[in-house]
Amino acid sequence: MPLRPSFSEEIAGLLHATHANPIKTCIQCGTCSGSCPVAKFMDYSPRKIIAMINADLKDRILNCNTYWYCASCYYCTVRCPRGIDIAELMYALKRYSIWKNQYKEGLVGPVFSETFVKTIIKSGRSYEPVLATSYLFTFGLQEMLMEAQTATNLMLKGRIPVLPPRIKRLENFKKVIQKIIPLGKPE
Ligand code: SF4
Ligand code: SF4
Repeated sequence: MPLRPSFSEEIAGLLHATHANPIKTCIQCGTCSGSCPVAKFMDYSPRKIIAMINADLKDRILNCNTYWYCASCYYCTVRCPRGIDIAELMYALKRYSIWKNQYKEGLVGPVFSETFVKTIIKSGRSYEPVLATSYLFTFGLQEMLMEAQTATNLMLKGRIPVLPPRIKRLENFKKVIQKIIPLGKPE
């Protein structure tokens, strides 16, 4: 019977197409963490996350905020002395977390990402009013009303469409997306 891949092997598989060096080659120098503009808000710094993946600490990683706070600035990636693509690793962890439906409670990132992908699958285009529902309720009442007012003004000026836009040949697009996104069949 074939052995199940370990967590670190699964993540290595997700990073296979990046052409960067494997995270196993990390020397724990900390350059990535020292470069990261949002490291102080993360549960574990980029350096620690890499050590934790190599130690197969899957549950602790899936229940932390680190990769959801990554701003995709790529500073860690360009500075890593071992040529590891840490920014791409953060994307891989987001994909894995949504795929396994396991993430830290109370984060906006997973809900926003899932809503975004579902919107794209449904119409082929992003639609801000639907996306906004994934984070608006995390605001206080006053900010929420201000956001709603701004959105209404933008709609009245034609900067946001009233109805979700749809691309042509949507069925063909859905078939392509279904092959690359492990989110089940589009609605
Ligand atoms: S900069 Fe590169 S080698 Fe250094 S800790 Fe980060 S990933 Fe590892
Ligand atoms: S890409 Fe993400 S992890 Fe890397 S330095 Fe920027 S914010 Fe930090």
